[in-house]
Amino acid sequence: MEISARGLVIGETKLGDNKKYIRVLTDEYGTLSVIVHGASGIKSKHLAAVRPFTLSSFVLTKKRDSYTLKEASVVKSFFNLGSDPKMLALASYIVSAAGYVSAEGEDMSALLSLTLNSLYALSESKKPHELVKAAFELKCASVIGFAPALIACSKCGADIAGGSYMHIYNGDCVCENCKNKVTYPEYEVTYKLTASVTAAMRYIVYSDIKKIFSFTVPDDELEILSEICEKFLSAHIETAFPALKVYKEL
Ligand SMILES: [Zn+2]
Repeated sequence: MEISARGLVIGETKLGDNKKYIRVLTDEYGTLSVIVHGASGIKSKHLAAVRPFTLSSFVLTKKRDSYTLKEASVVKSFFNLGSDPKMLALASYIVSAAGYVSAEGEDMSALLSLTLNSLYALSESKKPHELVKAAFELKCASVIGFAPALIACSKCGADIAGGSYMHIYNGDCVCENCKNKVTYPEYEVTYKLTASVTAAMRYIVYSDIKKIFSFTVPDDELEILSEICEKFLSAHIETAFPALKVYKEL
């Protein structure tokens, strides 16, 4: 059986000189592992289309649960991500996280759109890396069903636009008055949200994916926004990514 799919190459594993597996995040079929023959042949017409960070159109042959590449052509290549090691590490973290939270056989069009828009913002806009990272992380958590409750205090219902205390695991916020009136499990981690961090997080959660990078926060609050969004995503998917460690060390 043959299927056509549009997808982003998010990883590769070489199997000898002329064969590799690629992982492809598609919109319609989720993440697929695809066998590519002739993967390093100089004459391979598919060579450019099966590289990581490339969005391509694929024709795949499906046999039981395994997919083999038949044809591929490049739709968009994010090759300039490689021009800066720190940007490349962040891009690697983004595609690793997207690959980790996606599933095979399910519609992943929102996640693919988020990943592509994040790579585009990194490689072709002047947005700070930390801003792209934060927006990706928080929107990724939202897309997979873990949006934090950022509108009102979870205890008294007061508006929390001016600031609050956010519980990373529970995903709720409480106001200044209520912060000592609620008890949470010992593993809970609490962050103080300023008014600008709250506004940025609301913007990311409630905006269309294409617009999530169009906000600003004061420079001295961007780092804490990035830390909160990272902790929020990792609390809900419970895994660590080597590329994130590399990004932080560079
Ligand atoms: Zn309250």
